[in-house]
Amino acid sequence: MRRPLVAGNWKMNGSRASVQTLLSGILSGIEDVSRCEVAVCPPFLYIPQAQSMLTGSPVAWGGQNLSTEAAGAFTGEIAASMLLDFGCTYVIVGHSERRSLYGEDDALVARKFAVARDSGLKPILCLGETLEEREQGVTESVVARQLDAVIEAVGVEGLGAGVIAYEPVWAIGTGRTATPEQAQEVHAFIRERIAAQNEQVAQDLRILYGGSMKPGNAGDLMAKPDIDGGLIGGASLVADDFLGICRAAQESVA
Ligand code: PEP
Repeated sequence: MRRPLVAGNWKMNGSRASVQTLLSGILSGIEDVSRCEVAVCPPFLYIPQAQSMLTGSPVAWGGQNLSTEAAGAFTGEIAASMLLDFGCTYVIVGHSERRSLYGEDDALVARKFAVARDSGLKPILCLGETLEEREQGVTESVVARQLDAVIEAVGVEGLGAGVIAYEPVWAIGTGRTATPEQAQEVHAFIRERIAAQNEQVAQDLRILYGGSMKPGNAGDLMAKPDIDGGLIGGASLVADDFLGICRAAQESVA
């Protein structure tokens, strides 16, 4: 049985005051999360604040990116060891904004996944097609290419150390969610592709959906057999919305 994960990607949002308010709201409203996992990924600067507020709570925390390098003359970069130093469990790799705005290609994303995994972080690997690619009917080949790059780098067992997030780019931050059927189709494709190499890894691996997930659509998405939680952008910045999605994750497991 896979344990769903609800992970908040705060992107470049927040201030010390808003982080305090958001995390206090989450902590005071969080109910039974015994059947799921919950995490938030703040901007780097707010990770120490998250650590001090969340230690001992059911909410884990992580980074939104990491360097492929261990230390040294890499201005502006953050190493895996630094994330671990501040108690991070997770790190997002290959988010579509990193791919499209910062030129991260499949090979770089695969190296980041490998570095995260080797250091003991759990990478959340984002995969997904653009609207143009969906309309051209190449969704599966795009997702397969992104996935295969990571399998080539770390092996299929190495992939099993992380989490996958299927995030159709056209659904991110647009308010336009994939239907549960559209999402399930791609999730099943991803799982089958992994199963062709290792059935056990495929059955154990969590595949999250990301793209305008809200409390109102989370339950229907997570009811699908291959959707094991969500990577949440906008709704993770509003405590009640994030908590509503956590509730849906908890209820999705009988
Ligand atoms: C994301 O950025 O990972 C995301 C899913 O954003 P949103 O929920 O706002 O679509």
